[in-house]
Amino acid sequence: MPYYDLKCSKCNYEFNKKAAMADRSENKIKCPECGSNELEAVFKNINIIQSRKNSPPACPNMDKCGSCCEIR
Ligand SMILES: [Zn+2]
Repeated sequence: MPYYDLKCSKCNYEFNKKAAMADRSENKIKCPECGSNELEAVFKNINIIQSRKNSPPACPNMDKCGSCCEIR
């Protein structure tokens, strides 16, 4: 079963709950603080998934080798 990071829309209480997808889609998960099932998903760690698309370091011998040693 997946874990959900959820935040209550009513009292803003954030919590983590292990629940079946059906429970989530059918709003069966309830806020442990106030019992509301008006929950929104909280996506954390989203910055960690950032792609590493840094351009490769320029070849220090570019003028000599004509970028033949560029890492591909
Ligand atoms: Zn709540």
